[in-house]
Amino acid sequence: METYDCLIVGTGPAGLGAAFSLSEQRPELKLLLIDQEEMCTGGLRNDCKLNFTYPTGFPLEYWDRALANRMIEIVSSHLDTPILPSRNLDVYKRRSERLGVELLEIRQSHLGTDGGILLIERLMERLREKGIGVSLKERMEDLRMHDMRTDPIRRGHIITDKREIGFGKLIVAPGRKGFGFAQELMDNLGIAYVDNTVDLGVRIETREKNYPIVRDYYDPKFFFPDKVRTFCTNSNQAFVVREKYQTRTGRTYYSVNGHAYSDKDKGNGLVNFALLKTVRFTQPLASGQEFAEMLGQMVMLMGGDKPLMQRVGDFRLGKRSKTDSFTGDLYDFEPTLADCTPGDISLAMPAKILRAIWKSMKLLDTIVPGVMHPSTIMYYPEIKLYSNKPQFIDEHFQAARDIYLIGDGAGTSRGIVAAWASGVRAAEGILKDLS
Ligand SMILES: Cc1cc2nc3c(=O)[nH]c(=O)nc-3n(C[C@H](O)[C@H](O)[C@H](O)COP(=O)(O)OP(=O)(O)OC[C@H]3O[C@@H](n4cnc5c(N)ncnc54)[C@H](O)[C@@H]3O)c2cc1C
Repeated sequence: METYDCLIVGTGPAGLGAAFSLSEQRPELKLLLIDQEEMCTGGLRNDCKLNFTYPTGFPLEYWDRALANRMIEIVSSHLDTPILPSRNLDVYKRRSERLGVELLEIRQSHLGTDGGILLIERLMERLREKGIGVSLKERMEDLRMHDMRTDPIRRGHIITDKREIGFGKLIVAPGRKGFGFAQELMDNLGIAYVDNTVDLGVRIETREKNYPIVRDYYDPKFFFPDKVRTFCTNSNQAFVVREKYQTRTGRTYYSVNGHAYSDKDKGNGLVNFALLKTVRFTQPLASGQEFAEMLGQMVMLMGGDKPLMQRVGDFRLGKRSKTDSFTGDLYDFEPTLADCTPGDISLAMPAKILRAIWKSMKLLDTIVPGVMHPSTIMYYPEIKLYSNKPQFIDEHFQAARDIYLIGDGAGTSRGIVAAWASGVRAAEGILKDLS
């Protein structure tokens, strides 16, 4: 069996952050990254907006400002991308403050889905130069730990769909889609975990002229009362997409999302962004994730296995959208996610979430007048699962002896920059241990 000093599962930003940090400090270490996908990596491939300001993307329970800022410096040295200019923020900030809304000013860059792919290619080239092994289309399925008294070389081995691979240290960075996988792993290893919060809401799509703030600030981060926020704004050549998810019981549902390409000349004049409410469950409900997945499945039932979409004009009148809500007159742009069912999102969304989202829409429309134009589309559901949080045994995200769980799949990050930072933090722990 081939054995590596450190084996990294997942080639998203978390896995890459760990790989580059380990190899920079200890180039002699034998490292291997594996990923079930054929193209490295997970998140860098989608839109690739990079947010370089704490606390965006950094869950507060794991990160304080000083630590995050130190890590952001390190991440910037690898993801050195041009920072976007921002303009007129004082105007938007003043309007926001009057309404009890916070507009967070952050250092941002945007590569677009096309630019993200070029970045991945450059990063892959650098991994090759450093002699770090990468095996794509290989899925980790199981894990065996070894008794150190009988096997002092290997701490354990993983079983993939192709072979067995031994490791001294194992970093698992499976991302949001690997949430179920991470949970199974924690169950198998007896790692205690707590259920996490979920973000639930809609994705708004409108004409850029109805949300002109994006010309001044690419991805404006508004924080409304009731734990509602704007998230992941895309413009220029922007599209709403749907992502397929599977529950632990094998049922599928879709969550909507959005991305953009970088080419301004081919712009479609549309903007999309998520409006999400953070929901935290306490007793007696055991799992926020299961709640969110059930909502996702309910939409599948109502939408004929597709997400729902509704024009703001219909929603205001309390009526469902129909196919004719998507043709002509006031409703003058086509949805970019056509594979969606016109309907009534208020039938599918819990009242408390809906009220908070709608109130935030009204506040937003006062800050950036126009966003509640009748033609604006609300797609539902947008669900962000953040995985269960392991009970770590140290501050480097070690979840069991020599096993590190990092990135979005372990709840230690919520974005590319923070995911990379979590990889650096795990690497620092491993280096300390090896020294
Ligand atoms: C459509 C979309 C757009 C986004 N846009 C942005 C954005 O613009 N800016 C931003 O900051 N964040 C964005 N995000 C979020 C961002 O992608 C994540 O925060 C980030 O990628 C998390 O990094 P990660 O390394 O933890 O996981 P990921 O990037 O998801 O990588 C995990 C990798 O692990 C692999 N994997 C999982 N399980 C296994 C297994 N059992 N065996 C082998 N491999 C496995 C997966 O194939 C995947 O490649 C977006 C997400 C999506 C889905």
